[in-house]
Order: sequence, then structure tokens, then C-alpha cells
Amino acid sequence: MARFPVSEFKELPTPFYFYDLSLLDRTLAEIKRTARDPRFKVHYAIKANANPGILRRIQAAGLGVDAVSGGEISAALEAGFDGDKIVYAGVGKSDREITLGLEAGIQCFNVESLPELEVIDELAGQLGKVATVALRVNPNIDAHTHAYITTGLAENKFGINLEQLPAIVEKATSLENIRLEGLHFHIGSQITDNEPFVLLCETINGLLSEYAGKGYRFRTINVGGGLGIDYADPDRHPIPDFETYFNTFRNHLKLSEGQEVHFELGRSVVAQCGSLITRVLYVKEGVTKRFAIVDAGMTELIRPALYSAHHKIENLSSPNGERHHYDVVGPICESSDCFGKDELLPAIRRGDFLALRSAGAYGEIMASQYNCRPLPLSYFSEK
Ligand SMILES: *Cc1c(COP(=O)(O)O)cnc(C)c1O
Repeated sequence: MARFPVSEFKELPTPFYFYDLSLLDRTLAEIKRTARDPRFKVHYAIKANANPGILRRIQAAGLGVDAVSGGEISAALEAGFDGDKIVYAGVGKSDREITLGLEAGIQCFNVESLPELEVIDELAGQLGKVATVALRVNPNIDAHTHAYITTGLAENKFGINLEQLPAIVEKATSLENIRLEGLHFHIGSQITDNEPFVLLCETINGLLSEYAGKGYRFRTINVGGGLGIDYADPDRHPIPDFETYFNTFRNHLKLSEGQEVHFELGRSVVAQCGSLITRVLYVKEGVTKRFAIVDAGMTELIRPALYSAHHKIENLSSPNGERHHYDVVGPICESSDCFGKDELLPAIRRGDFLALRSAGAYGEIMASQYNCRPLPLSYFSEK
């Protein structure tokens, strides 16, 4: 379990992100152990957290990178990832971003529409290069997760619909500067139930056999990311159940000779190793509520305001006090700037340090400067 060096925190300006690198290393080791199938390749979805200290560890562990923008490609290159270990998805790739990817010699463009395919072909032609692409398919599978992080339904903006796929496959194989190598899928995020992944495997099997019948063979099958984590009890499940996750694909996907499976894990790699540390500014007695007003807000951690997400809150300064109910709120001028309602927590006093747990993914990277606030700093523990 994560231990917090509270006495050291007193010297640091709050709020800040605190990363447990030993947990990150153990998580990466577990991914290596459970994804041991030589046909499996794991790419880290860098949008979850691009802190250079985190990226260096992930690069050293041998993972590739899944990027969704030119900025992310640059961040990955700067952290030492080789261009040919970077895959690039995104519905709206600009000409500049595509050119950056081509020049970096990235492993694969995950293409989301016909016009994008044509632009990549044209830009690759201008540079005298051939772009390796996978087509991102929208498999119309309900991931049973929050509407804002469901990406694989027909109504979502992502990917190519199954009905439109045959024409685009044909087009891709006819373009001179395109090498069609795979199919790409990503159905959503924070998926805690295995069934959507099983459904995804079945959909993929159906597609592969349909296309095999037409003489098309795909060398890579990219199944995206989405494995969820335990936000309610991070100390019980500090490392997600990668064994079950990878076994689902091992047992359900019907691969042919030489086919590879690519995974793009973001949240499950980094969420549990990060906490947002904040100091209590005031305890305010309302008419019906007691508020703990803290110095972190939606500017440092937007998930509660954006997705009604909940991060476990801990009082690090007095973990054993008598418990009371608090609404834990930030200082930002928005009513949604609230980390928890009626939280049962050990008595909170001004100056106490609170930890918002499981904040390593989609936390620091989503920080904003709304209300002219400075971006949060980060600190690392090796112990
Ligand atoms: C966000 C994203 C991922 C990672 O999702 P997680 O839920 O963080 O694992 C993977 N692939 C694509 C294309 C994405 O957009």
C-alpha cells in the first residue's frame, strides 16, 4: 500500500501530484508477466499521463506508445521512445501532425475515416514514404461505462462503421503510399466487467473470417485499451487484474499464423500510482452541511466535475480521528468543483493534508489554468 511521507509534505507548496514509482514499477512488471504471449504488444496510452518522470519508467519497461496528437508523439520521442514503437490514433489529425508522424517513422496510423486515409496517402507521397495504417473500426459495442468515455457505439464520433468498412479496406489497399496492416478497435474506458472485451473478441473473429474469405489478411489486431481500476478501494487492488484481461484475449481471439495483438493501456498502467495531495484551507459550517474547503480544485483534477467520477479521499494528517460527514470542495468558482459529498472522514482541521487517491491517470495531464491558477507540480517516491 502507498505510504505518504506527510512530514516531507510540509515543505512543499500544495496542491501537488505525488507518484509512487515503486508501485508503477510493480505494475509494469505485472503487465510484462501477464502479457508474456510473444504475439502480444503493449502500447501505453500516453494521454493518461505524460509526466516525463513517469514516461521514462514506462519506456525503460519496454512498452510502446499510443498517441492521439502530434504533441503526444513529440512527448514520447523526447522521453526516449523509438518512432517505430509509436502508434497514432485520433479523429482529427492535422496535416502537420501527420507529417510529424511520417517523419518520425511511426509504427502505425490508426485511421478513422476515408478523407483522412486520402490525406495520409498524399502527404506520404510528398515525402516519398509509405505510411503503415490500421483502420479504426467502430464495433458498436456498449462498454457499460460512463457515456463520455464510451467510444465504440455507432453514435460516437470515433472510427469507421462496419457498413462502411469494406469500401475503405478496398480503397486502402489501392493507394500507392499506404500499407494496410491492421484493424484497430477501442470501445471505451474504465471497463470493469469482462463481458465487453469478450464481445469485442467475438466481433473481431467475425470480421477476420469475413475478410479472410475475401482474401484480406491483417497482420495486426489492435484491441485498444479500457481496462478499469478500483477507485473505491485502491489499497485492496493497487494493481489491476491484468491476468484475466490478457487471458480473455488469449482465450477468445482466433488468431492466424503471424498475427499480432496490440493493446493500448492507459489508466490501468498509471492511475493507482498517483495521488493529488491538497491542504485544507477552511472547515466551514453550513446550515445543513459541513464543508472541508481544500486548496486543490477541478483545475488540478477535473474527473469529478467532468464525469461525476469519485476519488477516494483520505485524511493523511489525522487518520484515526472521530469521523464526521464533510462535503470536500475546491476553491474554483463552479458548483461542480466538488470532490465528494457527505464523505465520512476522520475529523478535519485547517492545515490537514488530504490525498485524492487513484489520480495518476487523467489527472495532472488534464490540469488547467482556469481562474489563473498555476499548474500543479509533481513529486516522486521510490520507496
Ligand atoms: C484513451 C485511449 C486509450 C486508453 O484508454 P484507457 O481506458 O486509459 O486504457 C487507448 N486507445 C485509444 C485510441 C484511446 O483513445
